[in-house]
Amino acid sequence: SAGPGAGQQHAEALDAAEVSRLRADFPILETQVGDQPLVYLDSGATSQNPRCVMEAEQQYYEQFNAAVHRGAHTLAVEATDHFEAARAAVARFIGAGDDEVVWTSNATEALNLLAYAFSNASAGRGGSAAERFRLGPGDEIVVTELEHHANLIPWQELAFRTGAALKYIPVDAAGALRMDLAPEVIGPRTRVVAFTHVSNMLGTITDVAALVALAREVGALTVLDGCQSVPHLPVDVKRLDVDFMAFSGHKMLGPTGIGALYGRRELLNAMPPFLTGGSMITTVTMERAEFLEAPNRFEAGTQRISQAVGLAAAVGYLDEVGMGRVAAWEERLGARMADGLAQLPGIRLLGPDGVARIGTATFDVEGVHPHDVGQFLDARGVAVRVGHHCAQPLHRALGVTASTRASTYLYNTEQDVDAMLNAVADVRGFFG
Ligand code: PLP
Repeated sequence: SAGPGAGQQHAEALDAAEVSRLRADFPILETQVGDQPLVYLDSGATSQNPRCVMEAEQQYYEQFNAAVHRGAHTLAVEATDHFEAARAAVARFIGAGDDEVVWTSNATEALNLLAYAFSNASAGRGGSAAERFRLGPGDEIVVTELEHHANLIPWQELAFRTGAALKYIPVDAAGALRMDLAPEVIGPRTRVVAFTHVSNMLGTITDVAALVALAREVGALTVLDGCQSVPHLPVDVKRLDVDFMAFSGHKMLGPTGIGALYGRRELLNAMPPFLTGGSMITTVTMERAEFLEAPNRFEAGTQRISQAVGLAAAVGYLDEVGMGRVAAWEERLGARMADGLAQLPGIRLLGPDGVARIGTATFDVEGVHPHDVGQFLDARGVAVRVGHHCAQPLHRALGVTASTRASTYLYNTEQDVDAMLNAVADVRGFFG
């Protein structure tokens, strides 16, 4: 199975009239770029915020601001209630238990938290419960060639720290994951398999069920990078049956500065902490400390409270629209981008043919550097991402050093896609 893709949900897509109504909730979409209306096709990098998210943060500061989990005064209790209600809302959104969501700054921090927990266990911290997190020479960590640097470098560094080996499942010349090789790469020495759900560069969906099955067979832990799936697809961690998942709030209509690590309760409680200090302990002597259960044991120091409250408003908004309908709409926009680009001479759409792309089209314009493409599009008001998109190994595998990526969200229209296509159609004429 290709995971909970739009097609499998049989959800009715949003329609143009609804998208037009939704757009009114996003003040920034009214922006003019020079004399052109903004066409925002960079949600893969960061998404825009609906008014309700900004209002939730403002309301928090106006009415409830206090340090959570400390102090007996009324405000502190209310702040704690809002903070924990936000956690419960986000947990529900991904099908997790309330105590299985750990707040982090973003997905990058979530993945580093995990990688450092493995190092700490390898250094002998965490007692016998931490056995599954102990790595050393002879052990193997498996990733894929699709990964964003955030789900690659922490594992490279973990391998350096522990002496474990890092292996990867490669892609073919088109950028499709070589699933036929996965049973060779994932073997009896594999301890962790970390992989992306949706490629941030290509928008393609990984066969999560197949990789989880292979990892289970050898007793390895699974880590899903949900950065590009949680915002765009219905995602249920229990149905996907992964052990951990990382994601970022700012890519799913939420504020910057908040992300999360999902982990199975029993695994989180067996894991040594990453950051240590206040708010994560039970008793402390001058010699040692006892740690709280998850999630608090991973939340040292004063937390990102208003951001958590803002993210809860974002998932409320997404829930109201319906994730199946978001996914179906974006699949349609993705297909419109892919079909339109395929008709333009000198444009190479990157990625495998004939597969669903979640609102993402990444391409190479023959003879024109992506930075020039980006500037030309910006002059037409079209915001896209150019460069290596934090996926240098995948670019190398596809034989390009950089590319141009257009990525959508629920507020994008077919007119946005057409504005991008019209601008791209003129690029080669301008530079040629
Ligand atoms: N993983 C993927 C697939 C991404 O697209 C991103 C975002 O760029 C990240 C990880 C890192 O996210 P953040 O920068 O919010 O930590």
